[in-house]
Parts: sequence; structure tokens; C-alpha cells
Amino acid sequence: MKSVVIVGGGFAGMVAARILLKRLPDDYEVVLINRHRDFVFKPLLHEAATGCFGSGVIREGVGDVFLHSHNRFKHVLGNKVTLVDFERQLVSAVHRRFNYDFLIFATGSETNFFNVPGAESFCLKLETLKDAFRLRQSASKLPRDRKSDVVIIGGGPTGVELAAELSEFGRDLGIPFSITILDRSPVLLPMMKERFRRSVARFFGKSGIRLLLNTCVARVGKRFVVTDRNVRIPADITVWCAGVKPVSVPLSQKIDLPKGFFPVDEFLRIKGFSNIFAAGDCAFVQNDGGYPVPMLAQSAVDEGRTAALNVLASFRGRPLQKFVFRNKGIILTLGKGYAVADVYGFVFAGFFAWLLNRLVYLGNMFTWRHRFYAAHRFATSLFRKRHA
Ligand SMILES: Cc1cc2nc3c(=O)[nH]c(=O)nc-3n(C[C@H](O)[C@H](O)[C@H](O)COP(=O)(O)OP(=O)(O)OC[C@H]3O[C@@H](n4cnc5c(N)ncnc54)[C@H](O)[C@@H]3O)c2cc1C
Repeated sequence: MKSVVIVGGGFAGMVAARILLKRLPDDYEVVLINRHRDFVFKPLLHEAATGCFGSGVIREGVGDVFLHSHNRFKHVLGNKVTLVDFERQLVSAVHRRFNYDFLIFATGSETNFFNVPGAESFCLKLETLKDAFRLRQSASKLPRDRKSDVVIIGGGPTGVELAAELSEFGRDLGIPFSITILDRSPVLLPMMKERFRRSVARFFGKSGIRLLLNTCVARVGKRFVVTDRNVRIPADITVWCAGVKPVSVPLSQKIDLPKGFFPVDEFLRIKGFSNIFAAGDCAFVQNDGGYPVPMLAQSAVDEGRTAALNVLASFRGRPLQKFVFRNKGIILTLGKGYAVADVYGFVFAGFFAWLLNRLVYLGNMFTWRHRFYAAHRFATSLFRKRHA
């Protein structure tokens, strides 16, 4: 039997597996190797970290998603790829090995602490469900009789959403927080339109979230952060949201990986290989104009789809499809029932933006059963207080 191996079961890997299982002929099997047992919907992690809902909404069992494809689908659960041997076309996971005819890397990204002293030891991060629960536990243990300092390093979309959710978490649980976002850029969310930024700033003003811009972190310690101007900021909790880097996978052959990303051509083939593709956060993909495609769930989904279609085209001997990124926009949720959106160039804020965000998220979940469950939890979260 011939085989397509997918390494990584995030957005890109899951979408690719679904397409391949539907369209590959019967003499092909699909092997999905993932470090974790479940698919994790990362854009909802900050809501799990602030008690909006539990893990059930965020994780979807990979086995459940591919329940009806078991005869041709091998899901290697909770297993990490330890070596990819290009010469022998072999992927080694912890206890097993798989030959491949086609290979898709979809290993995603992980937190990048940029070697800032103390950051890895003293900061919380938001990368896995475990991280989200660790953050929720730490925040709910803070005293209720005095104000605690929460410092979020990084004012990108993740830092901004987390700050808003944490401020609501503090209010719901009666824990007074003083939240500060620290960012090296002179404006918050520089890639967003002025109107979008104004809406976020207005929300932060009302919620008492402090912004410390033009500020780099020089060092992080236990309960403090030191800036590049040698200012010491007290921090009962420090969360690192300042960047990600691609996950590295051990390879048998040295290939040039700029900043750790798999360099791909316009068909998402890794340069120099005709049967190996990369999609999602681990791939360095450029748009038509030469701009890098942002590391987002929407781009990972689109890239996973193109990689799968190009695997199909390759074995059928048909022309490959170019990857074209069509940015649909961005919606940042700022607590229950409120979001700021820039969708197809229209900027708006409020409940409708939040609702649209939920619909988009539901559309990107994999089974109807899970969608119904998540829709119910989204709706009830509007009327319930957050929990510790
Ligand atoms: C807190 C947070 C909030 C975000 N919010 C948004 C948002 O609002 N909107 C948006 O569009 N994007 C958002 N993103 C970004 C988005 O989640 C990512 O761009 C997207 O998840 C990338 O998908 P992916 O498939 O490339 O990788 P991932 O979803 O990271 O999946 C990669 C998978 O590969 C597995 N893996 C890695 N290495 C190995 C190995 N060696 N062996 C086996 N398996 C391996 C991992 O365990 C993981 O399951 C957010 C990200 C975070 C962390």
C-alpha cells in the first residue's frame, strides 16, 4: 500500500488529512502523526485560560474526526516524530516507523523567548491546553484583598485578547488585577487600521488596561520584569505573548531552513523535493507580491488544503495548484460578547463582530457534533460568570 504521511495534527495537518482521505484511491493510506491525542483549537486558548469554558470546546479527538475512515487512516496518537529520513523516505516516531510516498510537514509553531534572560523560567506562555490551565490556576490563586500585577509581554493579537479576557476574569472572580501590556513597537497592533486600533484602545481605556509601548524587556525574574531602560516592573504573573518560531523536526539531511521555517515554492513543495510539502506555521510562504503570509489559522487551513490538492495532482500527473493567500481579515474578541473586526476591509466593533467570530470558529471545527457542543458553550458563556 502506498502512503501519505502528515506530521502534525493542527489546522493544516487535519485539513490535509480530511481532503486526502476523501479523494485518494483505495491503495493509498494516510498516516497522521501528532504529538498530542487531540486537535487543539489554538485561537480559543486564551478563553480556556480565563475560565470562559473548559477544554471540551477547544480539543477535538482526532479519532472522532476520522471515525469513518479507519480502514485507510492511521493516526499515531501522542507520538512525536524523532527523525525524517529523506534518503530512505522514512519517518520515525517514538516507537514506530512509516515509509512515505508523499510527506506533508504541518508541525506548527512554538513560543519564541528570543533568549531573553529569565523569560523561559519565569513567564507563563499560551501554547497548549496545559499552558492555558496553568495560567488559569495561577490567576485564580491571586489574592482578593489587594491588587495584583499582571504583565503581558507582547501586544500582538494574542496579548491583546488575553489582556481583555483576563480583566473580565478578574472582575467575575472578584480578584483585582492591574494589567499591563508591554510592547517594543510605538503603537499597539501596528499592522491594523487606525479605526481598529482606536476601538481596541477605547476598550482598554474603559477596562483600565495599561499600555507600555516603545519598551523592550531586558530580563524577567520571579515577580518582576526589567525593561531596556532598566525600569523594574512588579509582576505577580508574567505572560509571554511576544512571538513564535517554527517547531524543529530532526532531519537526516541538512536543508537550509531560514529562521527554522521550511522554505517552499509556490506549490508549497519544500525546495529541492518533488514529493514533500509544508503547510501552516512551519512553512515560510510568500504571497504573490513576495510578502510573507501571516502565521494564522486561516492561512494554515488554506495551505493545508493546497498541499493536499497538490499531493493528489502529483500522483495523478496533473499540473500543481499555486498557493494564493486571500486575507479575509481578522476579528479580535475582547471578552464575552464583544469583538473588533476588520473583515474584507470593513472595520466594526461590538456584539455582531463577536458573533461573526464564533461563526467563523464553528466553521473551522471538524465535526457537527463538536460544532453543536461548542455553539452551546459559546451561547451559554454569555450568561455565565467565568470560573476558576
Ligand atoms: C494563543 C493563540 C491565539 C491565537 N489566535 C489566533 C486567532 O485569533 N486567529 C488566527 O487566525 N490565528 C490565531 N492563532 C494562530 C493559529 O493558532 C496558528 O497559526 C495555527 O494554529 C497554525 O496551524 P498549524 O496547523 O500550522 O499548527 P498547529 O495548530 O500549531 O499544529 C501543529 C501540530 O503539530 C504537532 N507537532 C509538532 N511537532 C511535532 C512532531 N515532531 N511530531 C508530531 N507532531 C508534532 C503539534 O503537537 C500540533 O498538534 C493563535 C495562536 C495562539 C497560540
